Amino acid sequence: MSDCMKYVFGPISSKRLGQSLGVDLLPPKSCTWNCLYCQLGKTRSFVTERQEFFPREDILEEIGQALKVNRNLDWITFVGSGETMLYKGIGWLIAQVKKLTTVPVAVITNGSLLYLPEVREELLQADAVLPSLNAGSEALHNKIDRPASGLTFQQHVDGLVAFRHEYQGMLWIEVMLLGGINDSDEALHDLARVLQQINPDMVHLVLPTRPAPEQEIRLPSDERLEQAIAILSEVAMVVNPLKGNMDLRSAPDLLEAITAIVSRHPVQQRELQKAIADRFAAESTKVDDVMQTLFATGRFSRVEHNGEPYWVMR
Ligand code: SF4
Repeated sequence: MSDCMKYVFGPISSKRLGQSLGVDLLPPKSCTWNCLYCQLGKTRSFVTERQEFFPREDILEEIGQALKVNRNLDWITFVGSGETMLYKGIGWLIAQVKKLTTVPVAVITNGSLLYLPEVREELLQADAVLPSLNAGSEALHNKIDRPASGLTFQQHVDGLVAFRHEYQGMLWIEVMLLGGINDSDEALHDLARVLQQINPDMVHLVLPTRPAPEQEIRLPSDERLEQAIAILSEVAMVVNPLKGNMDLRSAPDLLEAITAIVSRHPVQQRELQKAIADRFAAESTKVDDVMQTLFATGRFSRVEHNGEPYWVMR
């Protein structure tokens, strides 16, 4: 990407979103929260008022230029140096991007403004929305996310529940698992109860693998991570951060679960094979048969990318 790009960066490669072109809509750091684990450092003064920080036409112009030079994108991801939904006009930008390309649009947000109807409305055209939920109780939410005054835990949860009712796209809740902070059984059960009310399509567990300037944050132990996956899998499909792939162990309907994922982005065949092997851990000989049966449904086809086979929708 050319150095003169001000808003667009990447594409960056991640296991969750493949090749993703990033669009940063905010001046650093503009946030409604001041998370313990934030890589951007402390929120010096909260921003809670939505604004068009930069002219929307300028941002769109850059996205258009970037699309001309990047042909193999899996996602265009709106993300910010802070809370993405503080950008007023993101709904217009998403609608315009959809006129330019069929590449799906994801929005990474802390979700704190979803209690506002106009914020939910601006997100309706996104293909995937990834809001944060790091705690299942007010006390822990205040400890981890440290929101601006006036933003409450209940408001956050109500916003997520309301959004789920209105939104037809993929709702992937991001849970940052912090060693010794939100990885106890009690914290995880609280979280599971709230997730059950929200009913997301998936939960992406993420780990604090990058340094947080403000204070030392610990990774959860392997045992705590396993326990988090076990508890949260009772209410939602959970993506294991270590595998970086899908966890199909508790999917009620394997074909539908895989269709939901492949219809959003191409899936590496070996990742899929691994997820199926985990599901049939006791009967490893079944994996090839299951793969063949899934493929024989005619829903998927295979494409090669960098010598690697991927499944896409037919
Ligand atoms: S929501 Fe994101 S940007 Fe805001 S403080 Fe938390 S981690 Fe940092």
